[in-house]
Amino acid sequence: MKVTFLGTGTSQGVPVIGCSCEVCRSVDYRDKRLRVSVHLQVEGKSIIIDSGPDFRQQVLRERIRTLDALVFTHEHKDHTAGLDDIRAYNFIQHRDMPVYGEERVLEQLKREFAYIFSGVQYPGIPRVALNPITEAPFYAEGVLFTPIRVKHYKLPILGFRVGDFTYITDANQISEEEKEKVRGSKVVVLNALRQEPHISHFSLQEAIELLEDLQPERGYLTHISHLMGQHREVELTLPDFIRLGYDGLQIEV
Ligand SMILES: [Zn+2]
Ligand SMILES: [Zn+2]
Ligand SMILES: [Zn+2]
Repeated sequence: MKVTFLGTGTSQGVPVIGCSCEVCRSVDYRDKRLRVSVHLQVEGKSIIIDSGPDFRQQVLRERIRTLDALVFTHEHKDHTAGLDDIRAYNFIQHRDMPVYGEERVLEQLKREFAYIFSGVQYPGIPRVALNPITEAPFYAEGVLFTPIRVKHYKLPILGFRVGDFTYITDANQISEEEKEKVRGSKVVVLNALRQEPHISHFSLQEAIELLEDLQPERGYLTHISHLMGQHREVELTLPDFIRLGYDGLQIEV
């Protein structure tokens, strides 16, 4: 499986509009973080987890010519705002885009993108096939996904394990039972917002402690705020098996 980090930034992205801190002024390409998303190339399929506001720019940058499915972790705007742009794939692939998410997430998509679901097939609107998922394992276009239940403050959301790869974003709590589903993964991607604690996201220290508990071969951090610090400097402080993700990073799992 090949995994490409399409975006590794928190909801505002980095740089933040109007901010002149040293991270936002950094010229290091790894300090430019679009909204969080990953692309999986697995078993001949092309699948994206979350389509935030930077979706178009991300798929153009990575030259993603086919997309077989879109899977959502939760309904926050920084994870869903790019849904309209999947119509490019409708035109190329001549089929509805399979979309996977929990019932609550799909209901939110119906409200935010009411024109897609109005029943009036206005030419050119996105065409999606909604597939409700639960905590039970499911197949997305033939690829087995195991949902991992995590809490985003009070909101129950999903991470996903695909083979030896686990992706968890926007979490700050995970139960022992759910950790068991993650154990044995070679690569775990986990959100880490910043150095200081936050009400709905793991801090850097909390993410490191969880990765030390889960013991993957490699851990990558994502959903990073400008308050985390400069990529180059933060990397120096991390355990060897943990790296910060950055936009465009590709890994083989
Ligand atoms: Zn988010
Ligand atoms: Zn800043
Ligand atoms: Zn969120």
